Amino acid sequence: MDTGADAKPELRLIPKIDALVRHPELKEARAALGEPGVVELARLIAADVRREILAGAPASSLDACAERVRQHYLALATSRMRRVINATGVVLHTNLGRAPLSQEAVEAVTLAARGYEVLEVDVESGKRGGRGGFAERALSSLTGAEAALVVNNNAAAVLLVLAGLARGRGVVVSRGELVEIGGGFRVPEVMQSSGARLIEVGTTNRTRIGDFARALDEHADADVLLRVHPGNFKQIGFVEAADRRELARLAVDRGKLFVEDLGGGALVDLEAHAGLSGEPLARECIRQGAMLVCFSCDKVLGGPQAGAIVGRSSLVDKLRKDPLARALRLGPLPLAALEATLASYLAGDFGAIPVLAMLAMPLAEVEARVMRWCELLRGADVDAVPVHTEGRVGGGTLAEEPLPTVALCLEVPSAAELVRSLRAGEPPVFARVHEERVLFDGRTVLPHEDDDLVRAIIAAVRALRT
Ligand SMILES: *Cc1c(COP(=O)(O)O)cnc(C)c1O
Repeated sequence: MDTGADAKPELRLIPKIDALVRHPELKEARAALGEPGVVELARLIAADVRREILAGAPASSLDACAERVRQHYLALATSRMRRVINATGVVLHTNLGRAPLSQEAVEAVTLAARGYEVLEVDVESGKRGGRGGFAERALSSLTGAEAALVVNNNAAAVLLVLAGLARGRGVVVSRGELVEIGGGFRVPEVMQSSGARLIEVGTTNRTRIGDFARALDEHADADVLLRVHPGNFKQIGFVEAADRRELARLAVDRGKLFVEDLGGGALVDLEAHAGLSGEPLARECIRQGAMLVCFSCDKVLGGPQAGAIVGRSSLVDKLRKDPLARALRLGPLPLAALEATLASYLAGDFGAIPVLAMLAMPLAEVEARVMRWCELLRGADVDAVPVHTEGRVGGGTLAEEPLPTVALCLEVPSAAELVRSLRAGEPPVFARVHEERVLFDGRTVLPHEDDDLVRAIIAAVRALRT
């Protein structure tokens, strides 16, 4: 209850809203948010100050209040998505948005965003139709599966499969595959929220087909055998895992389902395309007998955030009708991007997909690019040299596979200070620190970003010199 200014004379000292809004320290905030936006922030701060005074705190000055508004504005501005330059050498950097889209995908998103589109309507009859038909047909054809369904991401795909096919039933998983993918995706927890019961078999390092067979003998409710591709780590040494073909045969013999969470979802052979071995192809999983395969569309596939479920049409149809499918459905903008990305695959135009282009870029080309950066920097009196190093595919793909690369190397008094300054620039640049040197990878910076990168490096180095 407000006892008014009589009880607390300091309340009269709260700065007036328009005095706050006009404060010179808030020039940048006014330019960015417009006056009404700053008025809103000023009201918030004034209300905070009022509460604090009523709680016994002293009044703050106009300048102090303006500074609080400015801090609030900065927090707001920096929490917004912005373009960054990825010089980390991690191609699929989850915190930086994973796969950059192809030109075709960008254009498709723009078109879909600008106006209306044929999303869920049959053009001939004018009646309601299904969403995602093209992407699903393309995914079926690219993976050799009977049917496909697209959802919001791979976590949603796995959740939908488990909930739709094994709610209240048992799912058998190897202990070696009860992994955490990152960003809170832990196989046992997803299982729990789907309502399926986890049946663990084998040991951390060794699981045999017999372990799965025994689990089916011992648990009458076991309906699904699940295989998870532990993409972000690799077990070496005394390890054994059940073979995909054996699992498929066991499932068929016992009348059970065999499902695979593939993670990456490669649609082309990365060994032939980029000399990277070991990443399973979605098509191969289907061919070897997986009845359903789930994967991300923004990992090695190189598309937007989306999840794919491919496999037997009877199972896919059942999932399509599950009420959860509606909650997990893919939005029209990522769907437009996915369609365009898959169209490039269908056309065999892999070079159009930035992730594949980056992975396939020959080392000599990466090196030539980094030499060019070095030259431009030398012109601005910044000394840099190219170094051969290793990048990563990222996104839970090919954990142990080195990705040979060339980086621009800067030696500075404080690497930590330079990377902080680079992140504070516009656009921010994310680089890598290795042995107190700052590395800028020639593979992950996008083709049109050379000038921006060089400018950002010069600005950051000069900022530290002064
Ligand atoms: C990345 C990954 C996921 C999660 O996929 P999102 O598309 O990020 O939701 C699930 N399972 C595996 C094996 C993964 O690698």
